[in-house]
Amino acid sequence: MRLKLTGPRLGIIRISKFDMVFAVFLTGYLLLVIVIAALELRRGGETRTASAKARWPVNIALIMIASGLATLIPISSFSAAYWARETDIGLFNAFGLTGVLAFIISVGFLSFWYFLVHLASHKIPLLWRFHKVHHSDYDLDVTTTFRVHPLIYLMTILMNVLVVIVLGLQPEAIIAHAMIVLLIDMWHHTSLQSPAFIESILCPYIITPKLHHLHHSDHFRETETNFGHDFALWDRIFGTYLAKPERSPQDFRYGLKQHPKKRADSLDLQLLAPFGRDPNS
Ligand SMILES: [Zn+2]
Repeated sequence: MRLKLTGPRLGIIRISKFDMVFAVFLTGYLLLVIVIAALELRRGGETRTASAKARWPVNIALIMIASGLATLIPISSFSAAYWARETDIGLFNAFGLTGVLAFIISVGFLSFWYFLVHLASHKIPLLWRFHKVHHSDYDLDVTTTFRVHPLIYLMTILMNVLVVIVLGLQPEAIIAHAMIVLLIDMWHHTSLQSPAFIESILCPYIITPKLHHLHHSDHFRETETNFGHDFALWDRIFGTYLAKPERSPQDFRYGLKQHPKKRADSLDLQLLAPFGRDPNS
């Protein structure tokens, strides 16, 4: 399927197939988030409710502040890819790489690119200053997905547009990958446990919630593992794959060490966190 930026008019706005596909997906996605959040509260009892009361205001406020920028990530990448294809710019377009092969390579590359950016977010102190806001959540549920510093979205837009244009990635692959990432991110953070047999079948190949929860551990050696968004392949190649916790379950904690809950539950402090003197505070 080759998407075209043409479609019916709504006043002065032309609605393209991309807009329609994305709008339907986003509506379904938001409904799914609400259902999952309700199930998490119901199954988690009083402990989960108390945790939600303390943490949700920051997680929800962050996505409300940044919702425009977050939505622009796939839209800007798609527009850049579409423009690159129409003007024959970028590696894929220059070599005439199109069709199913270009789609598969584009999705594969985006998977690697997201792994690389996540790895860099932990290894480069400037990027860690922003990414640590996500890791400061001391409990995990579906709302952790949206606990992201707003400037990360801005950086992601700029970096993704640059890569998409240089490589000439396929617009259809951008949409497919954006949907995969949104769904997987939600699955990674939920406190609803996947059936054990699904975890054990998938975890050698796919980054499952169990593996991603390990990445949210407050134990440094566990945090520095499982950077992948989808395939476990990249972590295996880079030697950062970890299937089992290093510590016993009773010692397991989410979040950042020496990061008081009071600080994690303050919207002001989380927004200002990247600009403090100590990158780890
Ligand atoms: Zn991380």
